[in-house]
Amino acid sequence: MRVCWYGDHRLGLVRDGAVHDASAALDHLPPLPYPWPKGDPLITHLDKLRPHIEEAADQGAGTDAAEVRFLSPVQAPTKIIGVPVNYQKHIDEAIADDEITTERVIRHTMDQGLFLKANSALVGPGEGVRRRFADLRTDHEMELGIVIGRQAANVSEKDALDHVAGYAIALDMVVRGPEDRSLRKSVDSYAVLGPWLVTADEIADPDRLDLSLAIGGETRQDSNTANMIVNCRQIIAWASRWYTLWPGDIIMTGTPEGVGPVKPGDVMHCEIDGIGAMDVPVGGE
Ligand code: MN
Repeated sequence: MRVCWYGDHRLGLVRDGAVHDASAALDHLPPLPYPWPKGDPLITHLDKLRPHIEEAADQGAGTDAAEVRFLSPVQAPTKIIGVPVNYQKHIDEAIADDEITTERVIRHTMDQGLFLKANSALVGPGEGVRRRFADLRTDHEMELGIVIGRQAANVSEKDALDHVAGYAIALDMVVRGPEDRSLRKSVDSYAVLGPWLVTADEIADPDRLDLSLAIGGETRQDSNTANMIVNCRQIIAWASRWYTLWPGDIIMTGTPEGVGPVKPGDVMHCEIDGIGAMDVPVGGE
């Protein structure tokens, strides 16, 4: 199943290139007493809502996905987790480029630890990236996004994928500079997720997916998640040793080689096998 948020916060089901309004299914969400339980309510209840989403989507003809403005398929994560330097060829290019390494020494992925991006940075492809600081370099990092489906604490690698709701295309945008990474990656609109969530049952092996990013027809990043140093199972188990993962939490799994700067007017065309494609425009402030 492919689920999305679009337009003016409509819930959508994507079938054969058309987006069907499934917002009526939200009536089946349980009431949320304050304080709200941790986790994105839609993702928490996605399995139970599934038949209602299908039923609601059956009621309308659908809109061509090319005409739809996609928001992030997760609206309320408790956190957006980043995996640093998870492809060897990206480590090689980072060592060669002072702009990327700043003053840090690149060590093994797991020695660096995970990092967090602010939830307020999260947007969908239809909202686009707004480049901050015209005098500083903003880079694209094309990544596989994992969306957690159920609470995970100290899970084993073997059981890790049972805790996944689905996958989406992620962009871990970053301002280059000496400041702490979490600051440089938390600028408004610097966390893109889209265009929809593909539920885990449709992705047989998340560690074997082609991913690519092109700007103006020029391919900048082109790799396969098989090249990740720490694979999806290992990332989830690793993260769940440090903090509880809640439904809707987003993990950006690391970027392959080819990161580079963007400028207003650029459109980032991103594709991942089995998920789809999205075009993300870059604007100025
Ligand atoms: Mn990244």
